[in-house]
Amino acid sequence: MAAPTEGPEQARAQAPAPVPAPAPAPAPAPAPLLRVVAKCSRSRARAGELLLPHGAVPCPVFMPVGTRGTAKGITAAQLAALGCRICLGNTYHLGTRPGPELVQRAGGLHGFMGWARNLLTDSGGFQMVSLAALSEVTEGGVRFLSPYGGAELLLSPERSVHIQNALGADIIMQLDDVVSSTTTGPRVEEAMHRSVRWLDRCIAAHRRPSQQSLFAIIQGGLDPALRRRCLEEMTRRDVPGFAIGGLSGGEEKEQFWRMVKLCTDLLPPDKPRYLMGVGYATDLVVCVALGCDMFDCVFPTRTARFGSALVPWGSLQLKSQQFAKDFRPIDERCGCPTCRRHSRAYLHALLRSDPAALHHLTVHNIAYQLELMRAMRDSIVGQRFPDFVRDFVRARYGGPERCPPWARHALEAAGIVLE
Ligand SMILES: [Zn+2]
Repeated sequence: MAAPTEGPEQARAQAPAPVPAPAPAPAPAPAPLLRVVAKCSRSRARAGELLLPHGAVPCPVFMPVGTRGTAKGITAAQLAALGCRICLGNTYHLGTRPGPELVQRAGGLHGFMGWARNLLTDSGGFQMVSLAALSEVTEGGVRFLSPYGGAELLLSPERSVHIQNALGADIIMQLDDVVSSTTTGPRVEEAMHRSVRWLDRCIAAHRRPSQQSLFAIIQGGLDPALRRRCLEEMTRRDVPGFAIGGLSGGEEKEQFWRMVKLCTDLLPPDKPRYLMGVGYATDLVVCVALGCDMFDCVFPTRTARFGSALVPWGSLQLKSQQFAKDFRPIDERCGCPTCRRHSRAYLHALLRSDPAALHHLTVHNIAYQLELMRAMRDSIVGQRFPDFVRDFVRARYGGPERCPPWARHALEAAGIVLE
């Protein structure tokens, strides 16, 4: 190693000025994605609009989940007719088959699926949990064995963003290092730090920031210190929105809501907050009270395929014999095409023989979710949200004393006392 032969002053005089590290390009300040139109005076619930390229989306909003370009059991036209303004596409599945190039040739995912409204694509990261046996995580990315025949796909942060750029969704998600919410120990901390590093790689790789809003995903498992640390790091980056990830995976509900609240306590109030993988009605109401704006879940469409119809008092298992001669609609107060045309008895009979039954139930269940969100939003705008919550609990559980304790605790923490 050569010893320095001159002082720092001389070196500065002779050597060319060091090239400063490239500063992030001074991008024009993007228009804010969220316009808050009303806030609940008791809880942290808020009503707003997501200002997206394919039209404004009233929020809080539930986003139905598509797999290969449509939500299972329903067409894009039917989703639009139900008033859905944004739905999800799945990057991992579309990235392997039919592949981003083909989708891009079809005019992006909007053109491919014939959907003129907004789309959100996930990063593909969730499949790390759901296809764990077929994947391996390294600093470079996630290596998947394709379920279609063994060929490998390395989903790096860059590859994930480039696939999502080709698909062209209005909101895209960073690739994060997801661990199951019930995982404990050093793996949780490793995944949290890696998710921050991968966020930076996603931001750097993003080619269409003015057309597609890239969301960060807060990780950190069920450890409050790790969650807070992740949140502090990620909110230093100027991304248009934040997701709360790594929850709703079988953890205790008391831990779940405390993690949600910790995040909504600290996330910037002027940016949308997307709670991933949450779709049970009670969870939606509680988490809106805690200040979340966006939700997605396969639950309403998946449960429809098991013959379960969502209603304000829970669900109807339409395969049950008790509905064989029940000529009422699923829900007399529901205005969806299924409830306008078909009886429980008809659906019961159809469930035994015809896949169309699952389609009718999917339409109803998505209508139920969208109507729940619409009613919540109206109550926030009308400054009636605490009353809405009390009515919801009465309809669903028969009274506050039968409401699950975790939901009562969460609502109280949000400022809404049921009794
Ligand atoms: Zn209905």
